[in-house]
Amino acid sequence: SDPYEEECDYLFKAVLIGDAAVGKSNLLSRFAGDDFRLDSKPTIGVEFAYRNVKIGDKLIKAQIWDTAGQERFRAITSSYYRGALGALLVYDITRRATFDSIKRWLREIREFGKSDMVVVLVGNKSDLGRSREVSEEEGRNLAEIEDLFFMETSALQNFHVEEAFLHMVTRIYEITM
Ligand code: GDP
Ligand code: MG
Repeated sequence: SDPYEEECDYLFKAVLIGDAAVGKSNLLSRFAGDDFRLDSKPTIGVEFAYRNVKIGDKLIKAQIWDTAGQERFRAITSSYYRGALGALLVYDITRRATFDSIKRWLREIREFGKSDMVVVLVGNKSDLGRSREVSEEEGRNLAEIEDLFFMETSALQNFHVEEAFLHMVTRIYEITM
């Protein structure tokens, strides 16, 4: 039987946001792992992947949307956010400019996204500590001010990737149910 046809109780849509080359697509392929099935909507330039998550006795299918690079042109459209219950908002700890962009991405999330969207702030590439331009404390402070969950990750080393996504899915489940 096709594992993707496995019965699920809920389907959650979540999105990946952040500047180009911060590691969004690598984070997604880590999280989706074996369940990784890339699908796309070429018309609007997005790709998505699925991962089933068990919470208690419920099976949740997380559908995570990724851009196909259009963040480069700041052209992510409102349809990208439509219906999304969560977002992983990613910057690169070795490039201060990607951290400075976070406020702008947050404005966009708040303009186009649901008001109760679960947003996790992610400082990626924690394996590159020697080139760090943004301290962990700065990330944590911003998250506190903006009321977001915070985590530093490494898609390369598969460090805290699972935790970041699972926190988002679990929070969505808690506030939706
Ligand atoms: P996206 O544009 O945000 O989707 O970023 P990508 O996932 O395409 O990654 C951009 C570049 O950063 C690629 O060369 C990746 O190999 C690299 N990269 C992504 N995540 C990490 C990480 O955690 N550590 C390191 N060292 N490199 C990473
Ligand atoms: Mg990408």
